[in-house]
Amino acid sequence: CMSALPFYIVGNWKSNKTVAEAVLWWQEFSALWRKSPPDISHIKVILCPAFIHLQLLDSLIKLTTIPLHLGLQDVSGFPGGAYTGQVSAQMAKDMAHFTLVGHSERRKYVKETDVELGAKVNHAVAFGIEPIYCVQSEEMTIPSNCQTVAYEPVWAIGTGTPDTPQNARKVAGAIKASHSEVKTVIYGGSVTAQNVAAYVEESQIGGVLPGGASLTPLSFYQLILNAAS
Ligand code: PEP
Repeated sequence: CMSALPFYIVGNWKSNKTVAEAVLWWQEFSALWRKSPPDISHIKVILCPAFIHLQLLDSLIKLTTIPLHLGLQDVSGFPGGAYTGQVSAQMAKDMAHFTLVGHSERRKYVKETDVELGAKVNHAVAFGIEPIYCVQSEEMTIPSNCQTVAYEPVWAIGTGTPDTPQNARKVAGAIKASHSEVKTVIYGGSVTAQNVAAYVEESQIGGVLPGGASLTPLSFYQLILNAAS
């Protein structure tokens, strides 16, 4: 990869795993990594677990030299204080330097609006958390302070039918052409260890966002390995 920007691999655990399962995942993933570390000098690996796993994973990662970054799946659009149930950017900033914002599942099930998403981005940016702003097409609104965008067509999420690297490249190009502040567009939707290399080859695509393939240590490790080689 000739680009100066790192290739992002953003694992999204969604609403999965008990604490025990998260620990087991880490034990297996770190064992695979230690046995044969992928060359990720040009790759940024980010894992987005549920909030309940952040602190433990942060501690476990810090016991090793494995360069895994943590991200949030969502962040509060409110400041800290009397907002029961919300996790603010200020609360999470020591553990997570990235956050998904506006994932299609949150837009669908929690009815997140562009105004709310804009507030989430503002709070994240204010506390040094990089928003990864999720859109489902190139026509969707993107706040002006987002440098990293994830293109995720809904029909490709969790279906086993990914968008083609060629079309994802076109959409990524269109997003960058119409938003000069966007530096990186990553692709999400049924990305696996088997198909990741084709996205790496597209210079317009700056990363991938695997959900299902991040859930087992072996599939996530192999995806990283195949993106790196
Ligand atoms: C996602 O979590 O955004 C996603 C694309 O999921 P999957 O890889 O399972 O399609």
